Amino acid sequence: MSIDAAPDNFYRGRFAPSPTGPLHFGSLVAAVASYLQARVNNGEWLVRIEDIDPPREMPGATDAILRALERHGFEFPAPLLQSSRLEHYDEIITALLDQGLAYRCSCSRKTLQTNPNLGRAGVIYPGTCRTATGDATRQAASVRVRTSNELLTFTDALQGTQKCRLESEIGDYLVRRGDGLVAYQLAVVIDDSYQAISEVVRGTDLLDSTFMQIWLQRCLKLPTPAYMHVPVVTGRDGKKLSKQTGAQELNPDSPVRNILYAFVFLGLNPPESLQEATLAEAWSWGFEHWQPAALTNLLTRPADDLNGV
Ligand code: GLU
Repeated sequence: MSIDAAPDNFYRGRFAPSPTGPLHFGSLVAAVASYLQARVNNGEWLVRIEDIDPPREMPGATDAILRALERHGFEFPAPLLQSSRLEHYDEIITALLDQGLAYRCSCSRKTLQTNPNLGRAGVIYPGTCRTATGDATRQAASVRVRTSNELLTFTDALQGTQKCRLESEIGDYLVRRGDGLVAYQLAVVIDDSYQAISEVVRGTDLLDSTFMQIWLQRCLKLPTPAYMHVPVVTGRDGKKLSKQTGAQELNPDSPVRNILYAFVFLGLNPPESLQEATLAEAWSWGFEHWQPAALTNLLTRPADDLNGV
């Protein structure tokens, strides 16, 4: 199922932005961490545009993100657009349904918000449609994957051993939403496997999603990559810096400075002289000094920490 079979032990990383806005400092940090990790492992680094949620997308964001990456000196082959893979996701959802690993769900978001039981990833689905057999669910667009309560564990390269009992802590989750769109959890699993990603490096906001992804990998008999979750950048309000909360677009005129900021955020200590360096020099300093262990057990870090850099 992979694009081209990579030799065993070949490192392949990726950066997988959703085109909901231009590249901002929070997403630059995820891109820089995954790029450093791929380069120091002599691996390949891919960009995948996760454009499967048109209502949340911003026209022109895909181009803006790709241009910003290039301007910051990232080198990568032609990106994969998830919007080109919709038929494939559909086939997999059908297979999950046929095997009884997933089921159609007719519960509205409104019903689920009434007396919700909140878990680590929002409302825990109460299982209403799990055993439904009648017409009510036959036409339903939403599809949920059936979870169990066995203990799922994985060891994150920075955050250590993570544990979750999916059924009681997260609940059966959507692989297709009520509006018919494929859910992120499914698309990401299919494409990490399709692109033979060996390690996923991304923000700690996706730690809980990892359990849902590992569960789907098991259902689909796909390999589980290694995971490294780096701290997410928070704003003054303590919340994750994100395109939705209006994070500022990176200043396109100071790519070296932006990269050095990202290095500092990621625990590196670039010398002042690098401020005058070329992009290539800044990057090669990063490849030489990348020490992700400095980020062990760090879930978030305020951008304000960087004052005075
Ligand atoms: N597309 C997701 C986002 O922009 C990230 C997916 C991932 O790295 O797994 O937040």
